[in-house]
Amino acid sequence: MRISESKRLFAEAKNVIPGGVNSPVRAFRAVGGEPIFIQKSDGAYLYDVDGNSFIELINSWGPMILGHNHPMIREAVVKAVEDGLSYGAPTAKEIEIAELIVEMVPSVEKVRMVNSGTEATMSAIRVARGYTGRDKFIKMEGHYHGHGDSFLISAGSGAITMGNPDSPGVTVGTAKDTLLAPYNDLEAIERLVKANKGEIAALILEPVPGNMGLALPLPGYLEGLREICTREGIVLIFDEVMTGFRLAKGGAQELFGVTPDMTTLGKIIGGGMPVGAYGGKKEIMEFVSPAGPVYQAGTLSGNPIAMSAGLAMLHYLNNHPEVYAELALIGRKITEGISKINHDLNLNYTVNALGSMYSLFFTDQPVVDFESAKKSNTVLFGSYFQAMLKRGIYLAPSQFESLFLSTALSDELIGKILTAHEESMREIHG
Ligand SMILES: *Cc1c(COP(=O)(O)O)cnc(C)c1O
Repeated sequence: MRISESKRLFAEAKNVIPGGVNSPVRAFRAVGGEPIFIQKSDGAYLYDVDGNSFIELINSWGPMILGHNHPMIREAVVKAVEDGLSYGAPTAKEIEIAELIVEMVPSVEKVRMVNSGTEATMSAIRVARGYTGRDKFIKMEGHYHGHGDSFLISAGSGAITMGNPDSPGVTVGTAKDTLLAPYNDLEAIERLVKANKGEIAALILEPVPGNMGLALPLPGYLEGLREICTREGIVLIFDEVMTGFRLAKGGAQELFGVTPDMTTLGKIIGGGMPVGAYGGKKEIMEFVSPAGPVYQAGTLSGNPIAMSAGLAMLHYLNNHPEVYAELALIGRKITEGISKINHDLNLNYTVNALGSMYSLFFTDQPVVDFESAKKSNTVLFGSYFQAMLKRGIYLAPSQFESLFLSTALSDELIGKILTAHEESMREIHG
């Protein structure tokens, strides 16, 4: 595999961009080696600046659920561009996407568009605090809610991988209002609630966490959180930036039948453009400015190009519910294939999978929370990542990430992925 042009660009990038990248995980630090610079993408493939092509299982960290460069979304963007790039004034498209989100996501009655998942979660916490008049909130160890100060406490993926879960620059004053609990542990929540009676504004979590690698909620867990939050007047926030429009058209809340008070969205919602959103119960969302007193704004929020990409994506998913069965089948073929190969090689590694998300953990223990995810052998994962890359399969460059599948993965491509998996496992255990 030729990598000379990527190497040259990375060296150049490091002169003017911190670490050479605009988001840390892209630097490949957790897997060794140097990042591949991308030229273009199409369908299931990424094409790099050295002329290599990769079947890839990240899909821009989720958004490209229909594969890259989908003609329907590309055409919607090109058409929108002809009418100008940004107005900073309302458009009909913003109503259309809001109506569509309200239709698709069961708990959302009103919604505000923002420009990233980070903005969505930061704003949702502010609104929950304004609504309840309380300061503290609970987050789960290893869950990631973007890079807002109050979330950078045991924050999953990038933060775990980089080895600095508590980032410098986050003040002690900010950190003290963030209460931590292990995922899948209702008793821990009860203890926190008791010790902070009447002081907790919100409980935020990834209902199906993907940012410590994929883990699944134990039976009754999400229902239990719902009960506690209702009893204690705590705003239950599902961060569905990753799972929204992916696990089902209404996200994890539809799949598990548990209704949060607020929901944060991102990734797929923009079809590849920078978009996020937060929404929920009318009486809570009425606290958002200018309807209510909680301030939140954005120069480019509801941008017409971004809304056009998002609308094309969401309309498609809403009108083609069969996509989710198709994605689940693709997911099953890959993960059952991987498990079978591992079994035949006498390797007992944990595979967590749901629909079009999965993680292969290099541990034989079940992974149900952050502690168990951390039992994985990350050095072995790094070798596996490089062995797959060499064979033209581009995985997320960290053990603590979920993979995201797209409808562009044909049986032929799945076959190539499984062949590469078998060869890679033999190589790294040989
Ligand atoms: C990606 C992600 C975010 C942050 O979204 P950005 O658009 O990267 O700011 C927040 N929450 C979850 C669950 C995510 O996966």
